[in-house]
Amino acid sequence: MTGPPNQPPSREPVRVLVLGGGLIGLAIAHQLARRGRRVQVLSRRRSEAAGFVAAGMLAPHAEGLGGALLALGQASLARIPAWVGQIEADSGLACGLRPCGIVVPFRSSAERDAYPTAAWGEPLGRASLEREVPGIGPSWQAGLLFSQDGQIDNRRQLMRALERACVGMGVGFQEGAEVLALERSGDGALAGVRLRTAAGEEQGLPAEQAVLACGAWSARLLGELPVFPVKGQMLSLQAPRQALQRVIFGPGTYLVPRTDGLLVVGATSEPEAGFSEGLTPAGQRQLQEGLEALLPEAAHWPPMERWWGFRPCTPDQGPLLGESGIPGLWLATGHHRNGVLLAAITAQLLAGVISGSAKAENKALLEPWGLGRFQS
Ligand SMILES: Cc1cc2nc3c(=O)[nH]c(=O)nc-3n(C[C@H](O)[C@H](O)[C@H](O)COP(=O)(O)OP(=O)(O)OC[C@H]3O[C@@H](n4cnc5c(N)ncnc54)[C@H](O)[C@@H]3O)c2cc1C
Repeated sequence: MTGPPNQPPSREPVRVLVLGGGLIGLAIAHQLARRGRRVQVLSRRRSEAAGFVAAGMLAPHAEGLGGALLALGQASLARIPAWVGQIEADSGLACGLRPCGIVVPFRSSAERDAYPTAAWGEPLGRASLEREVPGIGPSWQAGLLFSQDGQIDNRRQLMRALERACVGMGVGFQEGAEVLALERSGDGALAGVRLRTAAGEEQGLPAEQAVLACGAWSARLLGELPVFPVKGQMLSLQAPRQALQRVIFGPGTYLVPRTDGLLVVGATSEPEAGFSEGLTPAGQRQLQEGLEALLPEAAHWPPMERWWGFRPCTPDQGPLLGESGIPGLWLATGHHRNGVLLAAITAQLLAGVISGSAKAENKALLEPWGLGRFQS
């Protein structure tokens, strides 16, 4: 078949480098590949990604988000079932999506009614709270049920399914490849990256387009990004199967029941810890005390695992999405405590603008999240 006259011969689509193979990087790589782009993911260390740490709550209402962040979270929540359907179809693996509803307990009905997202939830008194959360501690007198919120098993299912979906769609992976620096051409545009391979070799990789998705470490590659780590510690218990149906989102502690009875307990929030690794007795004690206040009988359930990770936070706790100021370099970072929730919308918005196919409504959703809001 010949093309129309006076058109240049068709070229291979320009490769996009995705810097960071965590949840956001993988989600974008997958959507770009679905749009026919050639994609290469550079990932320093798979296991350090917050995508393997998070509790997987999908909780724009239970978290009490407001303004543009609530709108973004709601838009993502609405897209998650179809997004998960794509990942499951492309990978052949289940993602563990569970629209189980989230209960937020309060010490009084006045506290409940003052909650920022109260209008989106069903108000509960003590009796209905006990019905929703059998065994809830005696200090909780009221609650809000957000039946539209839920959870996904990011640690055991979603991340693996995304990786498999990407590989199946031809996305290239360089695991153990640390991006050391961005390289720019004379006019300031992105020219490529400098990286250290898993074998310890330093090399340059040319690219006209890249997405910076290095999570809590993003500012190490672009110093002007106001992204910093907020450490979180977690633990899990083996609960009797069906002991809990709803996620419970208490102040400072939440409980996320998986279908097989595993109960994920989170999470500390430690901005002062910087990138210091490991568990601390104080952090683990805080989780244990929060757990016992929410659900006293859980103190007798056998412990399973303990782990920690770093949320990528910004000063207003909203993400950084879109153009970076460097032509060819896109930002997808700073998702703080809602990166699992926001992965679906982030991937669709970024893949849309990078491939030049974004709809007007999607461009409007991106608008509040530019780097410019921190520069004026
Ligand atoms: C304790 C905890 C609980 C959470 N719970 C929830 C929750 O319930 N619901 C929710 O929505 N969100 C939750 N989150 C937030 C969510 O996990 C994050 O927002 C999300 O994972 C961020 O994804 P990311 O891809 O930006 O970063 P990450 O998943 O951290 O991935 C970043 C990747 O970039 C790589 N990288 C970094 N620097 C380089 C470099 N120079 N070169 C190459 N690769 C590099 C790293 O190795 C890493 O693999 C939680 C987070 C934590 C820590």
